[in-house]
Amino acid sequence: MNKTYTRKIEDLMPVELQFHLLGEGSPKVFFSGGIHGGETTGIYVTQRMVDFLETNKLLKGSVKVLPVANVPAFRRLQRTSPYDELDLNRIFPGNKESTPSMAIADVIWEEAKDADYIVDLHCCGLWGSSYTLAMYEEFDHARELAKMLDIPAVIQSGGTRGQLFTEASHSGIPAVIIELPGGGPAGIIDIEAAKQCFQALLNLLRLLEMLPGEARIPESAFYGKLEPIRATRDGVFLPMVQPGSPINKDDMLGMLGNEQVLAPFDGIAIAVRPACYVFKDAGLAHVAPRTT
Ligand SMILES: [Zn+2]
Repeated sequence: MNKTYTRKIEDLMPVELQFHLLGEGSPKVFFSGGIHGGETTGIYVTQRMVDFLETNKLLKGSVKVLPVANVPAFRRLQRTSPYDELDLNRIFPGNKESTPSMAIADVIWEEAKDADYIVDLHCCGLWGSSYTLAMYEEFDHARELAKMLDIPAVIQSGGTRGQLFTEASHSGIPAVIIELPGGGPAGIIDIEAAKQCFQALLNLLRLLEMLPGEARIPESAFYGKLEPIRATRDGVFLPMVQPGSPINKDDMLGMLGNEQVLAPFDGIAIAVRPACYVFKDAGLAHVAPRTT
């Protein structure tokens, strides 16, 4: 049985979180978007998932979807809430007696904590590429969920506490983030990345035997933690690899003025800045070392 319902958080301005519960029973899957309000590609994917599942009669088990988790931040297409400037993805499990963001975290945690799987969708900026972020080194359950997602790269999380997926992982719930290109103050949606992510989520539901149809067995590569490559001086940066490209140690990632910017190890360039003027210490790329 499908239903849509809202939960209101009382404040000077009411905040209404809209949850969509599609199907019933187990397994229970929780998809969320917009924990950071400007991360619009993830919001778009969750909304398409609601549209799809509302008209699908073949779902076994239940999928709960929260497309816009941080409603006040979404209205400004920004990361944090204008009410209290808190980062919603640092304060789980929240506290209903505290600030608006703390109360939102409390409601989301209450709705998510009985899930068997949690996939939280985010954006990694306009020059990023899609990846799954998981505490796969610490938790086998997180590794198993990451393996079921047909997203080419899995990155080890730094494990910062207070994130929905890290708190869930510590509570024994398989939980990951999928980072997607897009977002920013212009609310840009990367449609191609959204389509791939949507298919990856449908494929997950098939692998869990919640939807009929042939499931693809993903072959994602696993990487260590992301590391920034920073400009050593002011200049013009000209990239020479695309975001999402595999890299080998000493590959040229780009030129900074007449200086080569080299890959520090074998791995992947998850994000690469487009051609632009940069100043010393600006981030030029995010890279992660290959672990498998
Ligand atoms: Zn985010």
